[in-house]
Amino acid sequence: MIRYGEIFLKSEPVKRRFISMMTENISLALEAEGLAHRIETPRGRILIFGDEPRQIAAIAAKTFGVVSVSVCTVTTPDIDGIAAAAVRLAERCLRPGMSFAVRARRSGVSGFNSQELGAAVGSAVLDRIPEARVDLTAPDYEVFAEAREFGGLVYDERIGGPGGLPYGTQGEVMTLLSGGIDSPVASWLMMRRGCRMVHVNMKSGRFGGADTEKNVLQNHARLSAWVPGHPLDLLVVDMEPFFEAITALKEPRYRCILCKRFMLRVASILAGERGAAALVNGDNLGQVASQTLANMTVIAPAASVPVLRPLIGFDKEEIVERARAIGTFEAHPGDVGCTVAPRYPSTAAPAATIAQIERELDVESLAARAAETVRRYRAKNGGMEGGR
Ligand code: ATP
Ligand code: MG
Repeated sequence: MIRYGEIFLKSEPVKRRFISMMTENISLALEAEGLAHRIETPRGRILIFGDEPRQIAAIAAKTFGVVSVSVCTVTTPDIDGIAAAAVRLAERCLRPGMSFAVRARRSGVSGFNSQELGAAVGSAVLDRIPEARVDLTAPDYEVFAEAREFGGLVYDERIGGPGGLPYGTQGEVMTLLSGGIDSPVASWLMMRRGCRMVHVNMKSGRFGGADTEKNVLQNHARLSAWVPGHPLDLLVVDMEPFFEAITALKEPRYRCILCKRFMLRVASILAGERGAAALVNGDNLGQVASQTLANMTVIAPAASVPVLRPLIGFDKEEIVERARAIGTFEAHPGDVGCTVAPRYPSTAAPAATIAQIERELDVESLAARAAETVRRYRAKNGGMEGGR
């Protein structure tokens, strides 16, 4: 049994559309694992039937939009059938001396109410395990029993899901993906929020560390594991000519600002070509010189579509924790340095100075040319297509 959260708040037609996208995504994920299944969507619930309920539950619990999953025993929707299933579950976990509670619900079934169902199931459990005791406030063990028109459902476990909205319900956005820790988390958060994703990476070539590309591809492939069955594209842009141009400048202090503006400029062109509605990055207030409020204000206008920064208010520790949970954290990233970054970057670049430098560099044509260097890599189900 799959539970979803805020989708409940949507209007009927929107709810129907979201649920059908979510079940479609769950199906794709199960198919990717070769798990045969059948999905039914009675009111307020998604039920998946299959021969491998534990594996099915684990996969469904990684699908965006899912709040929690329970492996259920399905019975007839009457007290006897439900009580017998509850006793079988309780026998596995409820030991003499432990306290327990039955949480009963009923809808679309007549002949008893939920209190009566709870009491009957509770006494059946006590008949079998008389040394247990009932505690409805802080029980050691809980068993859940639902009587619904289509049948009885009994379970004693909930596996937490990622929450969010079903993947694909919110249009496409483009994340500027690096080989680092932050941007994969930013991408994941927007995917969880229902955005179809495309990644773009600016390849620094000989100006970057030897392991950068490997880390970028790894982040990209790992993120694709969260949307099984959906191809995830990574666009790679050649930044070398731009780096050559800015390393030739006398003043090194503004390089990071120029670089970040250039990335937004090129990504905006690519987003426009694909119809992506917004850019996403891993900016985090105050993390580095280019992420002060003053510099973000100078950098942002280089984009011609909105820039979303889902990590802006996170602490670094929280981002790292998330990256671990998502599976993109890399304890040993290797050589990922940037040789263009100056020793003393400006924390408040004057917009007029930046504009002047960009005119001299003719960044517009540099950006247009960079956008033409795009190479596309595709990942699916956690791996790169073509085996990269
Ligand atoms: P991250 O922040 O992703 O861990 P980082 O620390 O190397 O990587 P920052 O200097 O913090 O990068 O850059 C801020 C944001 O700019 C990143 O979160 C990412 O969205 C984007 N970005 C940085 N480098 C690149 C790159 N080479 N290609 C695409 N986007 C990049
Ligand atoms: Mg960062």
